Amino acid sequence: MALRFALMIDPLAADETPSDLASTFTSVDPAAPALTVGELSTQRGDGIFESIGVVDGHSQEVEAHLERLAHSAELCDLPAPNIAQWRAAVAIAAAESGPGEGVVKLILSRGIEHGPTPTAWATAAAAADFTAPRTDGIRVVTLDRGYAIDAPARAPWLLLGAKTLSYAVNMAALREAHRRGSDDAIFLSSDGFVLEAPTASLILRRGDTFVTPAPNGGILHGTTQLSLFEHLAQRGFETVYETIPLDDLRRADAAWLVSSVRLAAPIVELDGAALAVDAEFTASLNDYLLSPRD
Ligand code: PLP
Repeated sequence: MALRFALMIDPLAADETPSDLASTFTSVDPAAPALTVGELSTQRGDGIFESIGVVDGHSQEVEAHLERLAHSAELCDLPAPNIAQWRAAVAIAAAESGPGEGVVKLILSRGIEHGPTPTAWATAAAAADFTAPRTDGIRVVTLDRGYAIDAPARAPWLLLGAKTLSYAVNMAALREAHRRGSDDAIFLSSDGFVLEAPTASLILRRGDTFVTPAPNGGILHGTTQLSLFEHLAQRGFETVYETIPLDDLRRADAAWLVSSVRLAAPIVELDGAALAVDAEFTASLNDYLLSPRD
């Protein structure tokens, strides 16, 4: 999707309180070159990002995204982001994302090799039309992620809970899913537990209980999953975090992949076996996700 807007950000220290935030932002032509070739984000994927859903100019769950940005920065030894500055950047970009559904992206890169500061920017674009995956559902295959469920504790340098710019592996998994005739993938740990999709979290239903993989298993803690758990709890359902073996997913009453822009996509087929879909219930989840959420 073509970018509608781009904003370069002169990153402030986390504890700085500038009187004039506007002077730290420069709006640039989103189609023109803006980064130098020495950028470590492009050379090494060394940086972090967030993708925030926008509905009619309202950016969704901004604080949860900013919290995760700060968490990713900490895991990656990047300077802590100035939250007030990033919040202001989101507001400016969201206002430029146009009517209907959009997406604001925040990027914090390690910067230029030997450079003095990180590089930071935000973009806004219209979202793709996700009506089909939300209503018709998605076919999913499970793919081995190649490490055990305890890898994050043993090897924190893998940065497994951080939303880093290094998404080549995630994109390769999606291509493999497409090669196998599916729409999406769910990663499995090498010891057989379900983790997450390449760009979404997994929620499954067991009676009146909704279950998602525990975030300490080397996955991103999804803002959409967090928001849906709050919503489901308010509707009287039980919500739990678990270490989930593949068989539990196969036996689920229903399952969804959830993320900030595509929202809740029901899984209609898992590794070739049909999974039940409650279209009305799924529509109620997406109605909630499309309503203004802070
Ligand atoms: N897991 C991964 C690997 C992701 O890339 C994403 C989103 O892009 C998610 C989970 C879902 O996160 P969120 O709901 O915050 O969009």
